[in-house]
Amino acid sequence: MSAAAGVLRATAADLAALVASGEVSAREVTQAHLDQIGAVDDSVRAFLHVAAEQALAAADVVDARRAAGDSLGPLAGVPLAMKDIFTMVGMPTTCGSRILEGWMPPYNSTITEKLVNAEVVVLGKTNMDEFAMGSSTENSGYFVTHNPWDTTKIPGGSGGGSAAALAAFEAPLAIGTDTGGSIRQPASVTGTVGVKPTYGGTSRYGVVAMASSLDTPGPCARTVLDAALLHSVIAGWDHRDSTSIDAPVPDVVGAARSGDVAGLRIGVVKEFGGEGYQPGVEQRFTESLAILEGLGAEIVEVSCPHFEYALAAYYLIMPSEVSSNLARFDAMRYGLRVGDDGLHSTEEVMNLTRGAGFGAEAKRRIIIGTYALSSGYYDAYYGSAQKVRTLIAHDFDAAFGSVDVLVSPTTPTTAFTIGERADDPLAMYKADLCTIPSNLAGNCAASFPCGLSPDDGLPVGFQVMAPALADDRLYRVGAALERELVSRWGGGLLDRLADSEAGTYLNVRSGR
Ligand code: GLN
Repeated sequence: MSAAAGVLRATAADLAALVASGEVSAREVTQAHLDQIGAVDDSVRAFLHVAAEQALAAADVVDARRAAGDSLGPLAGVPLAMKDIFTMVGMPTTCGSRILEGWMPPYNSTITEKLVNAEVVVLGKTNMDEFAMGSSTENSGYFVTHNPWDTTKIPGGSGGGSAAALAAFEAPLAIGTDTGGSIRQPASVTGTVGVKPTYGGTSRYGVVAMASSLDTPGPCARTVLDAALLHSVIAGWDHRDSTSIDAPVPDVVGAARSGDVAGLRIGVVKEFGGEGYQPGVEQRFTESLAILEGLGAEIVEVSCPHFEYALAAYYLIMPSEVSSNLARFDAMRYGLRVGDDGLHSTEEVMNLTRGAGFGAEAKRRIIIGTYALSSGYYDAYYGSAQKVRTLIAHDFDAAFGSVDVLVSPTTPTTAFTIGERADDPLAMYKADLCTIPSNLAGNCAASFPCGLSPDDGLPVGFQVMAPALADDRLYRVGAALERELVSRWGGGLLDRLADSEAGTYLNVRSGR
């Protein structure tokens, strides 16, 4: 394996150790990833913006501090791909929308600030569905991102760019946001790890708002330990986010290192499976349960009767909040302005700008949300959905009275073909059937790769859900599963990717 290919395939934990020991410089690590982006991103299209100079300058600071004998943090010098929903000074923030084209934010999000302080090297901004609305990145106002396993397939959404960047070895770490599944579903279909922390466990300050009562930033990585290391860097109380939780961050790194599931009570959600679920997905899910049982976990079936209404409730609550949050894109404050020619009134400029700048899905949700909130319909739609939300939270509470975690497939199917669901919003929405309940309840959940579906050879995700502030449990289960699967295959799922036909265009392979 060439030195560059070794760097690309290394874990974030190993890269940080190599940089800290001086075996490889942060500049070399950064350059290797920039070269990989240059080599493969024409086919993957994960990045909206690559910030090569800014990244190399950040890497140089790490190298200089190491040369001066300073001690470095656990992820210093490790490159990261940032979903274009987080603000970062020096880079544009578009949130995947034309309405924000060219907007340069004047401040850093809290998470950006934490990453910068930890000396993580931000490579650039990744593609996403416009304003994080979608499950395929096909709603991006710019272009579609492709799944590195098979470039005719979607990489998931809304954070498809972040997940694809990981799977294409363009970055070892990424961050995303999860409002209804946008970290977990892309992780599931790209064979990577994605964690939605407890709501309020990670700050929303400087994150473009989609649905504020649901939005949760979180870590994306190729290994469980890497996700935990990133989680511990980005989590914690923030006085600038009113819903931030003032409590210690659970010991996610310790949990990822331990992976001990002996005696853990695992509840299989009865409602998630059967009709509409791909047989290969169910097969890998069932095998994973057997692995966990073999490691000493106790598996029981649990019923969560209101989960079947989660999708319907989400598609009322979320658009209601969207319709309010997106009102700020009024042509006056940020980005695009259409019709500012002295011939149009202010109101006309707003209408023209919003008409031109928002894509079809954003418009659909603004209209649905405005309707659901309108007087006369408020109680029937928004009010009822909030009641269902409470019932779902009660289902979780009841379940967590008898089990430590709940599990399900992350998504009913593997990655679907680009274009296949583009004209069928309901089919698209179903990709989040299993992920939405945890958002509605504010709990934490994660997706871990659990193999390739035997029917199409594409990755399958195993979802673990835990109570609020018990994020460490997710990592215990993920680490146990990962350890066992890696030892069975003699290498991780991503080694398979690099060796597979789908991976042949990656220079990771040609460099070996
Ligand atoms: N796919 C879901 C939606 O379209 C989830 C989005 C998200 O989590 N940001 O709303």
